[in-house]
Amino acid sequence: MSPLSTLLQELSATPARLVAVSKTHPVAAIQAFYDEGQRLFGENRVQELVPKYEALPKDIEWHLIGHLQTNKVKYIAPFVGMIQSIDSEKLLHEVNKQAERCGRVIPCLLQVKIAEEDTKYGLSAAEVRAMAAQDLAATYPHVRIDGLMGMATFTDDQTQVRREFERLKALFDELKAAHFAAVPHFKEISMGMSDDYPLAVEVGSTLVRVGSKLFGARDYSL
Ligand SMILES: *Cc1c(COP(=O)(O)O)cnc(C)c1O
Repeated sequence: MSPLSTLLQELSATPARLVAVSKTHPVAAIQAFYDEGQRLFGENRVQELVPKYEALPKDIEWHLIGHLQTNKVKYIAPFVGMIQSIDSEKLLHEVNKQAERCGRVIPCLLQVKIAEEDTKYGLSAAEVRAMAAQDLAATYPHVRIDGLMGMATFTDDQTQVRREFERLKALFDELKAAHFAAVPHFKEISMGMSDDYPLAVEVGSTLVRVGSKLFGARDYSL
C-alpha cells in the first residue's frame, strides 16, 4: 500500500480529513498523490503555493497553513480553499478585503498558540475569545470562520502534546457554545502533524496536516 492509502485507511474510522502538506516537495510528487485521489493539499508559503496552483489541476483544494503577510493575501485570494493561519485581526481584515475584490467568501481558521514553548505566530486564547465575541460575520462578510488551528510543541513528551491538543479542543468547545452554536460550518479543529496526528485525532481533530510521513523528509537546502 502507498503511504497515502495507509494513512487514509487509518483515518477512515475517524472524522478527520487529511491535508497533505506538500511544502518543499515538487509538483510531480503532488501530482502522484493527486492521481491516487488526494485533492486537499497544504502549503505554508505564498511564493511556493502560487506556482504550484498554476501548474497543477484546478480541482485541488489548497490550504494555506503558514504565517501570511498581509501584502501577500492578494496573490492567493482568487483560489485559496482555506487560510488556516489567521493570527491577527489585521490579517482577517485584509483577507476580507481581497476576498471581496474576488467576489468570494474565504473559509478561515483562527490560529491559536497552544504550545507551552514560546512560538512566534498565533493568537492567545484571550485574543481568540475577544475576536469571537464580536460579530465577525457582520464585520467581515467575505470571510467565513470555520474553526481553530494549533500546533503542539515539538517534543517527545506525549503527555504535554495531549495537554496542548486538549487545550485547543476545550477552547473550540467553549467558543462553539458561546458564539457559534447556530453556525454549522464552525466545526474544524486543525491539529496533528506526522508525529502526533494519532493523538490529535483521539482528542478530536477534524483536519490533520501531514507532510513528511507522506512525502518523506524535507530538504530545506534546495
Ligand atoms: C510543515 C507543517 C506541517 C506538516 O509537518 P510534518 O511534520 O511534515 O507532517 C503541518 N502544519 C504546519 C503548519 C506546517 O508548517
